[in-house]
Amino acid sequence: MTETKSQAELRVHAAEGDERENAQERIVELREQILAHLISKTGRDRSSASTRDWFLATALTVRDRIVERWIDSKQESFDQGQRRVYYLSLEFLIGRLLMDSLNNLGLTASVREALSGLDVDLEELREIEPDAALGNGGLGRLAACFMESMATLSVAAYGYGIRYDHGLFRQAIKDGWQHEYPEDWLAFGNPWEFPRPEIEYEIGFGGSVEAKADGRAAQIWKPNEIVEAVAYDTPVAGWRGASVNTLRLWRSRAPDPLRLDVFNAGDYVAAQADQVRAESISKVLYPSDSTPAGLELRLRQEYFFAAASLKDLIRRHLAQHGDITTLAEKNAIQLNDTHPAIAIAEMMRLLVDVYALEWDEAWRITQQTFSYTNHTLLPEALESWAVPLMERLLPRHMQIIYLINALHLDRLRSAGHHDWGLLSSVSLIDEHSGRRVRMGTLAFLGSHKVNGVSQLHTDLMKETVFRDLHSLYPDRIVNKTNGITFRRWLFEANPGLTRLISETIGPAFLDDPEALRKLEAVAADKEFQARAMSVKQKNKEALAKIITDRLLIKVDPDALFDVHVKRIHEYKRQLLNVLETIACYNDIRAHPTKDFVPRVKIFAGKAAASYHQAKLIIKMIHDVGRVINNDPSVRGLLKVVFLPNFCVSLAERIIPASDLSEQISTAGMEASGTGNMKFALNGALTIGTLDGANVELRERVGDENIFIFGLTAEEVQNHRAQGIDARATIAGSPVLKDVLDSLASGVFSHDDRDRYKQLVDILTYHDHFMVTADFDAYCEAQRLADIRWRDRKSWWRSSILNTARVGWFSSDRTIAEYAEDIWRVPVRTVSKS
Ligand SMILES: *Cc1c(COP(=O)(O)O)cnc(C)c1O
Repeated sequence: MTETKSQAELRVHAAEGDERENAQERIVELREQILAHLISKTGRDRSSASTRDWFLATALTVRDRIVERWIDSKQESFDQGQRRVYYLSLEFLIGRLLMDSLNNLGLTASVREALSGLDVDLEELREIEPDAALGNGGLGRLAACFMESMATLSVAAYGYGIRYDHGLFRQAIKDGWQHEYPEDWLAFGNPWEFPRPEIEYEIGFGGSVEAKADGRAAQIWKPNEIVEAVAYDTPVAGWRGASVNTLRLWRSRAPDPLRLDVFNAGDYVAAQADQVRAESISKVLYPSDSTPAGLELRLRQEYFFAAASLKDLIRRHLAQHGDITTLAEKNAIQLNDTHPAIAIAEMMRLLVDVYALEWDEAWRITQQTFSYTNHTLLPEALESWAVPLMERLLPRHMQIIYLINALHLDRLRSAGHHDWGLLSSVSLIDEHSGRRVRMGTLAFLGSHKVNGVSQLHTDLMKETVFRDLHSLYPDRIVNKTNGITFRRWLFEANPGLTRLISETIGPAFLDDPEALRKLEAVAADKEFQARAMSVKQKNKEALAKIITDRLLIKVDPDALFDVHVKRIHEYKRQLLNVLETIACYNDIRAHPTKDFVPRVKIFAGKAAASYHQAKLIIKMIHDVGRVINNDPSVRGLLKVVFLPNFCVSLAERIIPASDLSEQISTAGMEASGTGNMKFALNGALTIGTLDGANVELRERVGDENIFIFGLTAEEVQNHRAQGIDARATIAGSPVLKDVLDSLASGVFSHDDRDRYKQLVDILTYHDHFMVTADFDAYCEAQRLADIRWRDRKSWWRSSILNTARVGWFSSDRTIAEYAEDIWRVPVRTVSKS
C-alpha cells in the first residue's frame, strides 16, 4: 500500500489540518476576522499595527474557534453526566499557546496564508508570544502535557492551579553568574484567558474553632482572615479539536480593595495593607525545584488554591447531581505531588463540618475521590509543615489531621501492629525534628491510589519513602510512567521531521504514536537517512544562529551537538559533564595531531535562587567555556555554550537540533525525567544512567541504540553504605585527578583561584552524587559515542530507531492508563484517517 508522492503530500497538508476543500474561502474568512480583531481589540489598523498587535488579533481569532468547541465540550460532559477529573497542580509550565492551538485546530497552514496576504509572518508572531512559565521544570511541564492529552482523549477534566502574576524568574547571566529577574508574562495582557469575576470564593485563614454542642466530630471554624479567590479560565484544545477542557487558575485578592477610613485619615500605605497581603498569595511562583520552600506564604498558596478548587468542584457537583454523597462516583481528584495535599483535610472539613456527614462516610468519600502522584524520593524534598504554623494558619485542619492520624493508628493497633518504630514511621506527625505534619503521608492515607512516575521510581517508592505504608496497604501504589505530548514536542517543535515521517509512512502516526514503528523499515535506508540528516542539519543551523545571536559564539553545525538542558541540580550532574569536558580539553591539547570528533557542548537550565552549589556549577560552565572557546590549540574541536533563560520555547528549539541527549543523573534520584523522552523522539541518542524512565527508554529503543553507563540504583546504595570518601577512586583515575587538580588550582578561574576549591573538596570527601565513581564509565561511554558518530550510517540508523520506538512515551498513553486504573473514566480517540 504505497502512496504516490503527491498523495502523501496532500495527506501531510491534511496533517497540518489544511482542509483543501473550501481552503480559499476559509483563508479569506480568517483574514477578515484577524483584521476585525486588530481594529476592535488594539485600536489600530494595518498601517500602524505592531507585531504584538498582530499576535493579539490572531490569537483572538483562533480563540473564537476554540470557544465554540469549548462550549460544546462542556455541554457534552454535562449531558453525559460522567465522572469528571480534576488535576490539582501548583505548577503548569505551559509555554506558548499560539502554535499549539493552531496545530490542534488544524489551522496552521490557513492562518499562515491568511497572514501572509497581510504581509505578516506567522513565525514572527510565534516568537513574540511570552511563555506562560507557571512552573519550575518537569513537574509543571507534565501537568501541561497532561492537560493537552486529557483534551485529546476527551476526558472531561479541569486543571486547577494559581494564576501567578510572575511565573518562573527570568535568568540572566552576568560574568558567568546567574541573576534572577521577575518575569512579566502578563505585561501585554493574555489573549487566551477569560477572567471570571463572578466566580469567586472566600478562603479563610487563622482564627479559632468552636465545638458544636452535639458531641459529633463536626466543629465550627471561625477564620480571622478572608482572602478571595477569583477564577481565570484558559481553554485547552486537544488534538484535532477533539475536546476543549478548562484550565482554571485562581487569583487572590482582598474582599475590600482598601480601607477607606484609614485612607481618609492619610495613611495610604496602611489603607492598602490588606490588599497587598491578600494579593501576595498569587504574586509569584516559588522558584524551587525538588526542594520545598517551607515558608508560610507557600502554605498559604497551597491551601488557597486547594480550597478554592474544592469549593468550585463541589458547587459544580451539587448543581448537577444535587447530592453530596455521590461525590466520589462523579469526581476524581488527582494531586500532582503533595503541594495540594491539604485538600484532603479541607475535603474532610467540608464534608463533616459543612455538609454534616458522619466522619466515616466522609473519609470513605475522600479516599475514593483522591489519588496522589509522588514525584521525588529525595528525603529533603518531602514536604512537611511545622505543627505550630499549621495550628495558627489552619487550626481546624490541624484538628482534622490529628483525628485522621488517631483513627489510622488505632486501626493499625487493633489489627495487631504494636511495633513502635512502624507506628511512628507511618504517623502523620513527624516527631523527630520539632513536630511536623508529613504531607506525603496525608496524601497517601487520603487517596485510593498513589502512583510513581516510572517503573524504577515506583519500585523504589515501595522500598524507601513509603516502605512501611506500602507494607500496610500493598495495593495502593501503582506505576504510571510519564509521557510527553507529541503535538508540541514533535509536530510543532520539529515540523521538518514530522513532514518527512508523514511522507514516508503516511500520517497515521499523527493519531497513533505507535505507528511510528513503521520507520524501523527505513532506519538503514540510505535515502531516508540522508533526508533525516538534512532535517537535523537545518535544525542545527537554526540553533547555531540562536547561539551566535545570543552569545556571539560561532559553532559548527557539522559538529556533534551534545546537549544537557534541564534544571541545574547536583543530582542531575551537570558537574559530571563539565568534568568530562575538561578531560576532553586536556586530551585535545595533549594530542595536537590526533583526530577528535568535533563537539559542541550545549548547556541550559535555571538554578533555584537560593541553591548556591547549582549556581556555582553555572559559573563553572562559563569559566570552563571561556577558556576552551578562546584557546587556539583546541582547533575548533570543542565548544562550550550556555544558553540563558531555559524555558519551554527554548527547549522547542534546542531539542530538535540535538545529536546527543545527556540524561546522566545519579541512579535512583531522577523520578522519571521527560526531557529524555523529548530528545529520543526527535532522534537524539541518549547517553544516560539507568535512572528514571531511562530504564524503560532502553528497553524500548534497544541496548545498541543508547549509551548506558554507570552505577545502578542498587550499586549507588551499596556505595553510599560503604562511605562516600572518593580519595581512592580519584587516585585510581589519572584523568579525573588531572581534571580536579586543574579546577582546584584555579586554571579556569584566574580571577579567583580558590573558587572551586571547596567544590573539589566535597567531591573528594563527600561525593554523595557519585560523580567521581561514575566518571571513568561516563568518559568511556562518550568515546563509544564518538566511534558511533564517525560511522554515520550506524548513528543514523540508531537515531531513526529511537524515533520509531518511543511512541509509548506519548502522554496519551499515560493519561489512558490513569483514566483506566485510577480515575475509572472512559477515553475516546478522534482520528481523522
Ligand atoms: C521537559 C522540560 C523539563 C524537564 O526536563 P528533565 O530533563 O526531565 O528534567 C524542564 N524544563 C522544561 C522547559 C522542559 O521543557
